[in-house]
Amino acid sequence: MTDPPKGSTVELPPSLRGLLDDPPEQVRVVGETVDEVLHELVAQFPELQHHVFSPSGAIRSSIIVLVNDDDIRYRQRGRTPVAPKDRITLVPALAGGGPRPHLSPQERHRYSRHLLLPEVGERGQLRLRRARVLLVGAGGLGAPAALYLAAAGVGTLGLVDADVVEASNLQRQVLYDTASVGRSKVGAASKRVRSLNPNVRVVRHKVRLTSKNALRILRGYDVVLDGTDNFPTRYLVNDACVLLRKPEVYGSVYRFEGQVSVFDARHGPCYRCLFPQPPPPELVPSCAEGGVLGVVPGVVGLWQATEVLKLLLGVGEPLVGRLLLLDALSGSTREVRIRKDPHCPVCSAHPTQEGLIDYPAFCGVTEMAARVPEIDARALAKELRTSRPPALIDVRETGEWAIAHLPTARLISRGTLSERVGTLPKDRSLVVYCKSGRRSADAVRFLLDRGFTRVRSLSGGIDAWADEVDPRMPRY
Ligand SMILES: [Zn+2]
Repeated sequence: MTDPPKGSTVELPPSLRGLLDDPPEQVRVVGETVDEVLHELVAQFPELQHHVFSPSGAIRSSIIVLVNDDDIRYRQRGRTPVAPKDRITLVPALAGGGPRPHLSPQERHRYSRHLLLPEVGERGQLRLRRARVLLVGAGGLGAPAALYLAAAGVGTLGLVDADVVEASNLQRQVLYDTASVGRSKVGAASKRVRSLNPNVRVVRHKVRLTSKNALRILRGYDVVLDGTDNFPTRYLVNDACVLLRKPEVYGSVYRFEGQVSVFDARHGPCYRCLFPQPPPPELVPSCAEGGVLGVVPGVVGLWQATEVLKLLLGVGEPLVGRLLLLDALSGSTREVRIRKDPHCPVCSAHPTQEGLIDYPAFCGVTEMAARVPEIDARALAKELRTSRPPALIDVRETGEWAIAHLPTARLISRGTLSERVGTLPKDRSLVVYCKSGRRSADAVRFLLDRGFTRVRSLSGGIDAWADEVDPRMPRY
């Protein structure tokens, strides 16, 4: 049996809860009189001191205190006795909006370097505390942004990510440490953010963003930071932000280069105005395939975090209508003016698309995979053990091959396939693989067009092989 909770219940009205970081609706406080209970209350929540007590230490006359619905002014005021099961209610006088919120002494100390900036100050810091920012993707871009936005005191950080932390993420996703490997990204991230700044509320969305859930998830936030690594989600985030009239802070990286912009269709172009159509999937290498210098997403993610803070504070010139190009190798940046497309299907005055669509299909991802014959990893493992195993062609790059490859495979990277197609046997069954199944699907289509008939793509690529057949295979 557990002991009954000790003390009396104090109910806090919304106007007083608004002063607290993590406000409970009810507090249990021990005391024998109203005075004792209220002193204990402000000891627990120092932010309430000035709202409950006058400088002389008396209960403020602008607050009515009820004990079980009895006004203490008609009983013994502060000396009114309180029993453990009593309910104490505070009713402050309201003058529209209630008491002005302010920072606690601990917050003043923590954010003192912000408070010194006239552009931030206490008002700005309170705006950050009220703000709700959604990070779509807690990867290379989202990780550094989450750390700095939490450190800056953004009150609510939403994280959308369905992945688990892999060892190959740690080269750039500084939100995670070695012990996080194998844990969910949103779980590991919220733990890290809480230990960095307990004032921040982290909302975990451990899902993949889809056309079904995007509007519901994005609706609750003020600004969306796009930290995605694929085109279908990028177009989805853009379209959802246009429909919900929210600013989106865009960032992307590849190898040594990065791009940053702010898309806010109310004041400027959207991502579709800039890139109406995605490139064909076979021409899109991801970071996993093309590689990325670890600091580059750090720089881009922090540039995005900077734009988020500017939008929340209402200071400076946001990157609306401007695309910033960063090149780490040359150490240079360029800015490109981008304009609103008067015929943009989503953000123009007469949009032709009014809701969300099927983004994988729009980006050609499902379409391409569906067009070529495939084999899954387990079936391939079985065929490789037969007396007439298929020949394996690895169409990845040399660096990827060096990390891991299938034992009997031949390396012919996608770029050299057209020169070396003559060396492949047409009378034998061929299985082509890459990392995820995209480049191999493209290679299979290329081979089918050149008269190969017995050729299949390993669905899910070498990743699926590592998942389903050989868990010891190194991942990247
Ligand atoms: Zn547009």
